[in-house]
Formats: sequence, structure tokens, C-alpha cells
Amino acid sequence: MRCPFCGAQDTKVVDSRLSSEGDQVRRRRKCVVCHERFTTFETAELTLPRVVKRDGTRAPFDGHKLRSGMMRALEKRPVSTDQIDDAVGRIQRRLLASGENEVAARRIGELVMEELRLLDQVAYVRFASVYRKFEDVAAFREEIERLERQPSPEATRQQLDLLPPLEPKS
Ligand SMILES: [Zn+2]
Repeated sequence: MRCPFCGAQDTKVVDSRLSSEGDQVRRRRKCVVCHERFTTFETAELTLPRVVKRDGTRAPFDGHKLRSGMMRALEKRPVSTDQIDDAVGRIQRRLLASGENEVAARRIGELVMEELRLLDQVAYVRFASVYRKFEDVAAFREEIERLERQPSPEATRQQLDLLPPLEPKS
């Protein structure tokens, strides 16, 4: 790897470590000519499927758009940024694992709803009401009633809290 400071061909890796998620390698390098140090990141190049919109047009998958849509639904809700990032990561991994090169926008919406339903009921209803464009109040009420029959994520989480804690990440 060429030195970004002096252009020398020869640089040396002085430190190498894996990111906490294990999907990125961070390398500290030192130029043997000018002795400047710099960092490189190594990640696997994965291609997410293209998105097929309702009108049949195609667009590249946009992780930022996915995240901002979820953030909007989660506005002022007790859900941390880490939890949102984890949810976005899970959705992307599921899309990658599908092995398809195209995915319907509708399918992405469903994956978002699945994640939101586990994170926060209010956010889920907010997202679903916009996404599904509930045709009338009755359809909306039906969805709320369906939700009320399910255990809330808060209840599920409280049950999980009773389990012994997981090993801390190293
Ligand atoms: Zn250099």
C-alpha cells in the first residue's frame, strides 16, 4: 500500500485489529520512508440487491434511507442508536443472505416492520400506518387490536432480563 504522504511504495503494518462486530479489520501502517502513520480499513465488499419500487423502477439499495425511515418512526421513543444500528444490520444481512440481486421495496418495508415490532410498538404502528396506508380507521383499529393480543416487546424484554447476562463482548 502506497504512503498517502510521500507516495513511497513501502509501508509497514504496525498494528492490526478486528472491529467489535468482527466485520472490519483496522490496520495501523507506518511509512518506511517518511515515517508517517495512517490507518486503513478492510471490509468485505458485498452487494445488496437493487430495489424494485412499486412503479417498477429500480434503484440502488440505500442503507441511509432505510435508517432514516426507522429513525422517523422511533422519534422520541426509548430506543438507543445502537439498537437501531443493530436492526438495520440485521435487515441488510437478511437481504444479503437472500442471494437475490433484486428485492421488492415492499419486502424491505416488511423487514422494517418486523424489526420495529420487536423494538417498540408505537414506532411499529407509526411506520405501519404510513407504509400500509391504512385505508380507513377500521383497518387501523384492527391492526391495533391484533397488536394488543400479542405480548408487548417490553414484556418480552422483561422476561429476557431474568435470564443470565450474555458474555460481554471482548
Ligand atoms: Zn511516506
